[in-house]
Amino acid sequence: MGDYLRTLFLHPPSFQGFDGGAGARYQARREIRSFWYPTWLAQPAALVPGSRLVDAPPAGLTLPDVVPLAGDYELAVLHTSAASFAYDVRVAEALKRQNPRIRVGFVGAHVAVQRERALAASPAIEFVAGNEFDFTIQEVAQGRPLASVAGLSYRVNGHFERTMERRPLENMDALPFVVDVYRRDLVVEQYFIGYLLHPYVSLYTGRGCRSRCTFCLWPQTVGGHRYRTRSVDHVVSEIAQAKRHFPQVREYFFDDDTFTDDLPRAEAIAGGLGRLGVTWSCNAKANVPASTLRVLRDNGLRLLLVGYESGSQAILNNIKKGVRLDLAREFTRNAKALGIKIHGTFIMGLPGETRETIEQTIHFAREIDPDSLQVSLAAPYPGTALYREALERGWLEPGELVDAGGVQASVLGYPHLSRTEIFASVESFYRRFYFRPRKIFAFLKEMARDGALCRRRLAEGAEFVRFLARRHSSA
Ligand code: SF4
Repeated sequence: MGDYLRTLFLHPPSFQGFDGGAGARYQARREIRSFWYPTWLAQPAALVPGSRLVDAPPAGLTLPDVVPLAGDYELAVLHTSAASFAYDVRVAEALKRQNPRIRVGFVGAHVAVQRERALAASPAIEFVAGNEFDFTIQEVAQGRPLASVAGLSYRVNGHFERTMERRPLENMDALPFVVDVYRRDLVVEQYFIGYLLHPYVSLYTGRGCRSRCTFCLWPQTVGGHRYRTRSVDHVVSEIAQAKRHFPQVREYFFDDDTFTDDLPRAEAIAGGLGRLGVTWSCNAKANVPASTLRVLRDNGLRLLLVGYESGSQAILNNIKKGVRLDLAREFTRNAKALGIKIHGTFIMGLPGETRETIEQTIHFAREIDPDSLQVSLAAPYPGTALYREALERGWLEPGELVDAGGVQASVLGYPHLSRTEIFASVESFYRRFYFRPRKIFAFLKEMARDGALCRRRLAEGAEFVRFLARRHSSA
């Protein structure tokens, strides 16, 4: 079509139920089947006319399903992650066997920080894009010589070349709407996140986070530490467009690293969303003032996803979270008083973790009592300060970030706290948080109000119990 190569954007098949796509911050198979939208792939797809985006795991597609696609395309752009890289290389090789003329490139934070190493993994990979790859991929899809495309490493005559770095995108409104690609290529009903209404749609209104949490991959790689944002009108227009595309969608989620990094802008966007009458939710740090919370709530905000990480101030300081526990408590009280739901995320095994801090964190979570929570194991992704620290201090034990089934694995261990204990603390955390009368009662109340939600929660409950049983047997 036109001047563009026929381009396939592919989140490859890997572990069954693996949520490691171009939108998952934490790449693993979740306790409950969940899928984020492949927004990082949808964005360049929106810049390449005639392209197609295939998100294999939510669609239930396996390798034999996607390999025949190679015959229809001249260029395949695969999004990869630390956990799935080895699988993704096999997919690239299978595409190349099917159609030796197809050109294959990899994108994603994992390869952006080690481009040549990724190229060396297989001759099937012709190029690897750097951090912010939307326009890099558009230029490749225009058939330009790779040497002239900024932000690439590529293979030529048996060796690797690197082009000049691409500058971070400043005019974020230059990015076309991803919801048009979602409508063209995805089925919104296939995307689930346990704490969001279903169906939901998520997208970004900006990139980057001002905070410098040592474990957090995107701001240290693809996003940076300035919050570069789309204009309020651009965002509100995209949601209006999404409403036309997907009248069945019940909730919009703004997956910016920290949507509340710019409070006046968050309030202005909220005003536009309020006029559209949509229900929405977003990521936030546990420091949003009550006055802003009220404006957001009055304009349709239903839920905040809050990275508390730990109930130990020492650990929060170690990881440069930039949050005080007393303020996090106050923020949570304010949000709850306004009726805003909270999904809290915590991480076990961060630097400074001890048996005592594990207890402190579980107590803290029970005290602030978010509506739901997620507990992850510390995952030192290459490209992060945590990864470098773990290597230097000898904390990184051999092993993969996920096990053979794609479930998160414990790879950080300390002389005073083994990875087995850290692994076990996740299950204990979940049990002690959820198996309390007040939590069970809250879930029953929620289910009684909504028949569809009731069926979904029962299925999720069974899945969650199976997840705990699996962990128990692998501990
Ligand atoms: S505040 Fe959240 S998004 Fe920002 S660096 Fe920390 S963990 Fe990452």
